[in-house]
Amino acid sequence: MRAPVLAYIGLGANLGEPVAALQAALAALATVPQCTLRRQSALYGSAPIDSSGPDYVNAVAELSTTLSAPALLQALQQIELDAGRERPYRNAPRTLDLDVLLYGSATIHSATLIVPHPRMRERAFVLLPLAELLPDQVSPLDLAAVQDQGVWRMAG
Ligand code: ADP
Ligand code: MG
Repeated sequence: MRAPVLAYIGLGANLGEPVAALQAALAALATVPQCTLRRQSALYGSAPIDSSGPDYVNAVAELSTTLSAPALLQALQQIELDAGRERPYRNAPRTLDLDVLLYGSATIHSATLIVPHPRMRERAFVLLPLAELLPDQVSPLDLAAVQDQGVWRMAG
C-alpha cells in the first residue's frame, strides 16, 4: 500500500441548504475508504464569482489518504453525485462542488485532473480557509491579491 498523502479538498455549495450540504459533505469525506479526515477549516461565505445564484458557503478539509489522486477525485465526484449535483453548464450554481486543491506536493496534469488546482490562488474563498490549515502555503501577497473579493468567515 502506498504511503499516506495529505490532500486538501475545497468544498463549495450555493443551492438549497449550503451549510447543511457542506456539513454532510464533510461527514461523507470522513467515511471514504482509505481516507482520514484530519482537520477542517471554518465555514466561509462568499458572493458567486463567474457564477450565479445565492451566496456560496466554502471550506477546506485536510485528508490523509492512501488513495491515488485519480481515485480520490472519483470518490469526491461520487459524493457530489450523491448530493444531487447536476452539471447543466460550466459554473452553474451547484449543490456541492468538491475540488482537489493539493495532493501532497504532487504536480498533476491529466485530462481529468490538474493539481495544484489551477484557480486556487485567485480565489479568496479557497485561500482564506486554506490559510487556516496551511499558513505556510498562503503568503501575505496571495491574500493581498484577493482581498477585494467578498468573503467572510461564518460563525462556528
Ligand atoms: P469547477 O470545480 O471548475 O467549477 P467542475 O466541478 O464541474 O468545475 O469540474 C469540472 C472538471 O474539472 C471535473 O470533471 C474534473 O475532471 C476536472 N478537474 C480538473 N482538475 C480538478 C481538480 N483539481 N479538482 C476537481 N476537479 C478537477
Ligand atoms: Mg469542481
